[in-house]
Amino acid sequence: MRANMPIPLARLQVQHERLQRELEAAFHRVLESSQFILGPEVEAFEAEFAHWCQARYAVGLANGTDALVLGLRALGVGPGDKVAVPAVTFAATAEAVCLLGARPVFVDVEPEALTLDAAALRAVVQDSAVKAVVAVHLYGQPARMDAIARVAEEFGLQVLEDAAQAHGASLHGRPVGNWGRAATFSFYPTKNLGALGDGGALVTNDGEVAERVRRWRDHGQTSKYHHVDIGYNSRLDALQAAFLRVKLPYVAAWNERRRELARRYRQALSGIAGIVPLTEFPDCVHVYHQFVVRCQRRSHVISHLRRAGIDVAIHYPTPLHLLPAFTAWGSGEGSLPVSERACQEILALPLYPEMSDAEVDSVCNLLAEVTV
Ligand SMILES: *Cc1c(COP(=O)(O)O)cnc(C)c1O
Repeated sequence: MRANMPIPLARLQVQHERLQRELEAAFHRVLESSQFILGPEVEAFEAEFAHWCQARYAVGLANGTDALVLGLRALGVGPGDKVAVPAVTFAATAEAVCLLGARPVFVDVEPEALTLDAAALRAVVQDSAVKAVVAVHLYGQPARMDAIARVAEEFGLQVLEDAAQAHGASLHGRPVGNWGRAATFSFYPTKNLGALGDGGALVTNDGEVAERVRRWRDHGQTSKYHHVDIGYNSRLDALQAAFLRVKLPYVAAWNERRRELARRYRQALSGIAGIVPLTEFPDCVHVYHQFVVRCQRRSHVISHLRRAGIDVAIHYPTPLHLLPAFTAWGSGEGSLPVSERACQEILALPLYPEMSDAEVDSVCNLLAEVTV
């Protein structure tokens, strides 16, 4: 069977066509103000985003990677420190650790949802002095924060949440951004809340962390030309803040649509052998940044879907401890079997709010053909 129309991995043009007037109005507002760096638009977005996350502070930053760097530094991570990072995540999670001169210690993930395995974390921190842990809310589902928090408390670890893929997700009714001492977000265009360019934020309930990150994003100034420490240039553009303010009120409905499409996928896939979606834990609100399945004969499945015009992706093909960038930084983890196996099996199917029910059905029909 052929899909009627190609199904890409995102349809940002459709999202933006619907918001065109509002986005243009935001553009004109900033153009007229001529305040392009920080200022009222950024402050308003920070207040609105903090409120949306049910947290006290949000600090707008240039991107999600900088948010990780500044956030880890604000939690006291510095040269020589070890930071536990899951082996299945986007490289930026570990890159941020290295950029501070600290060392990532890669930890295996749990097999059901591929988030950081708290038992594996415990084993790692028992053996070596680890300063902090980054828990990644992978694909839009919160990591098992209660179990991770117990290990962190017992061993005195700082906890940073990497929520780049999980705007609006929650665990036991408590939104991401409120589990660790701080959380970082990315507004890369394809994230659940995306700017029209790069953007990021740090969210926290800790006033001291917020103040440090606010200072460091603007060259360590506490007031104009009074530099109290070495910072960065990592400010969120006023234009991006204005665009994000347009989109923020829609994100809850977009997430709900993502969840609906995911339910449809799960139902259709339950009858198909060899294609198994990752688990959605019942105590979570998973916001489906990605819909990821494990599949046998993955390369065969990929070519069958691509021939029919359906785009798919692998997030991520290699666990971080096996990437050339990190082999010199890691601590000789040896094998992390759950991560290594998962990276050979996972496949992300198209899922975004602008997708139709019929398109989910086409993808599933094709998957049914390929596995018989
Ligand atoms: C996107 C992403 C980042 C990096 O965000 P940028 O805004 O692209 O710098 C970090 N961690 C995870 C898990 C991500 O998905």
